[in-house]
Amino acid sequence: MSLLEIRDATLKFGGLTAVNALTLTVEEGQVFALVGPNGAGKSTAFNLISRFYTPVSGSILFDGQDLLRMAPHQVPGVGIARTFQNIELFHQATVLQNLLVGRHRHRRTGMVENILFTPRVRDEERAHRAAVEEVIDFLDLQPYRDQRIAGLPYGVRKVVELGRALASKPRLLLLDEPASGLSVEETQNMRWWIDDIRRQMGITVLMVEHDMGLVSKVCDRVLALDGGKKIAEGTPAEVQSHPAVIAAYLGT
Ligand code: ADP
Ligand code: MG
Repeated sequence: MSLLEIRDATLKFGGLTAVNALTLTVEEGQVFALVGPNGAGKSTAFNLISRFYTPVSGSILFDGQDLLRMAPHQVPGVGIARTFQNIELFHQATVLQNLLVGRHRHRRTGMVENILFTPRVRDEERAHRAAVEEVIDFLDLQPYRDQRIAGLPYGVRKVVELGRALASKPRLLLLDEPASGLSVEETQNMRWWIDDIRRQMGITVLMVEHDMGLVSKVCDRVLALDGGKKIAEGTPAEVQSHPAVIAAYLGT
């Protein structure tokens, strides 16, 4: 069974078909890229998986479970985490606090227990702290751990956004343009992290990315969209040299 299976999914915004009969299969352990020019429907495809949008037709299965039967708030619970093209963090909170938010799906204690601060709550807090400290170490965020997001450079916020998603220990990680706006050096770091996320943590990655250099280094498989439709799929080399992909990027 594939980890993620989208079959024939279509989504319209009024008269605009943003995602058109999209079929996409991601296998466990893969790093898979969605590419295509601006407006191709890549973020909308992510929003379908996150359940922010419901397709007018088609199906989406995660590990055999029907995602379309779930509400958006249930999606993290099955093991899907995401980052946003426009970073979405709590700006007045610290790096550590933002990463603790990522642990939300693992909370087992109730409100009353939390108010009473029972031993169970204390144990749970310790476990969350340990999981988050691991992510902080992994992403070299120690120097920023107690700083507020509002005062941090863009490149660091981008890493915190990745950390928030990773802290939930997902099975599938959706990264919307992880390298956009990053310097050459920051992009290089992102590359190593994505490699390690797959190799050391065993997490499957589906990413949207414009930097084809990065895509060809970290991805096994690429699907190109244009106008909501699949125009090519294959290895990074196959997709990059596909005439329909070249034409889409040249706008011809
Ligand atoms: P990409 O991420 O590939 O750049 P998007 O998925 O964001 O593209 O957008 C696909 C198309 O859908 C674009 O034409 C965009 O303008 C349109 N679109 C995206 N979100 C909305 C929305 N919430 N309402 C109306 N149109 C939208
Ligand atoms: Mg987008």
